[in-house]
Amino acid sequence: MQGRVLLEVQGLKKYFPITSGFFRRTVGHVRAVDDVSFTIRQGETLGLVGESGCGKTTVGRCILRAIKPTAGKVYYHADNGAIDITALQDDSLRAMRRQMQLIFQDPYSSLNPRMTVREIVGEPLLIHGVKDRQERDARVRELLKQVGIRPEYMNRYPHAFSGGQRQRIGIARALALDPSFIVCDETVSALDVSIQAQILNLLQDLQEKLNLTYLFIAHDLSVVEHISDRVAVMYVGRIVEVADTVELFSNPRHPYTEALLAAVPRASATADKDEILLEGEVPDPANPPQGCHFHPRCKYATDICKRERPELSEVSGDSDHAAACHFASQLSLRGVS
Ligand code: SF4
Repeated sequence: MQGRVLLEVQGLKKYFPITSGFFRRTVGHVRAVDDVSFTIRQGETLGLVGESGCGKTTVGRCILRAIKPTAGKVYYHADNGAIDITALQDDSLRAMRRQMQLIFQDPYSSLNPRMTVREIVGEPLLIHGVKDRQERDARVRELLKQVGIRPEYMNRYPHAFSGGQRQRIGIARALALDPSFIVCDETVSALDVSIQAQILNLLQDLQEKLNLTYLFIAHDLSVVEHISDRVAVMYVGRIVEVADTVELFSNPRHPYTEALLAAVPRASATADKDEILLEGEVPDPANPPQGCHFHPRCKYATDICKRERPELSEVSGDSDHAAACHFASQLSLRGVS
């Protein structure tokens, strides 16, 4: 997919201090995000995948400035130039937040049970200065229609809706301020499989109609495959592979991606693929292994893997495909078709 870059993340780091003792002295750091860089083009969906605790949610929260990064830059490329989101304060950060929204994982806990749908979806409008109630209600009706909820239900409370309907209400709320960029954080993970497909289709329809750009964070590769134009794979705070979705699934260049793909259910899956299912635990991000973080679990590891960190670099001749493995161009890895 071509197009101008909308979001650019450069060398993003987020370290959480580990404190100890009465004076809460810092004795170490959890490196939740450790030097992550990527871009997202306008109108594109970038999937961000990895096992639980790999740092993908922290990346999303840093981009939205829900938490302040330890280091690195996040640029939003507006029509009139690049805005460094990491440097914004107060009013300018508030204004920027209109452009960038989050759709939460859990539609049961993300909606306030004491508020009606009218209040939930209208709240961002109120906060951002739409004081006129009629104007707000008209916008709420329009948003509910857009996400497939009947506007006449706007005076109901969240408990009156199913999980899928609640997620639609969460999406309507995220759209209230006309954002251009949305972080979807495990947005369909809590839903039944049949409902997941409906919500993914809704997100795709809205993307097309409203020219939205998504960072789609998930642990489930089949979900990511369904919606993403490109996929970035994270492992212990770093991106280890990024490529066009079809390319990544059919021609993985990092052994961790190969192992994740082997776990994706396929009608044509062979017994062979079970042999590369991941073994061992994800390392502690407070004390990750030297060299390649994946080496204790990698069946292709050699001595250099234990000593030297592989950089994320272009895989033979494809500027859109990069992997962080010393042997990315040499290994014969198995994808899925
Ligand atoms: Fe495996 Fe070595 Fe590649 Fe890391 S650098 S993924 S340990 S082969």
